[in-house]
Amino acid sequence: MAVPQRRTSKTRKRKRRTHKKLNAPGMVVCPNCGEMKLSHRVCKSCGHYKGREVIAEPAETEDTDTEE
Ligand SMILES: [Zn+2]
Repeated sequence: MAVPQRRTSKTRKRKRRTHKKLNAPGMVVCPNCGEMKLSHRVCKSCGHYKGREVIAEPAETEDTDTEE
C-alpha cells in the first residue's frame, strides 16, 4: 500500500484549506417589497418576479413548527 513519504506540515495543510470555504448565495433586494431574496428567483415574501405577481400574496406567515 502506498504511504506518504512526508508528513503534511501545518503550513501546507492550512494553505490547502484556504480554498475550502462556503460562499454566500446571490442575494439581491426585491424591487417590489425591499426584502432580501435570491436572484433569478421569485421573491419569497411578496411572490413577485420580473415586475409582476407570480404567486398570490400569502395571507399570514404563521409559525407552523411551534407545535406542542
Ligand atoms: Zn418582494
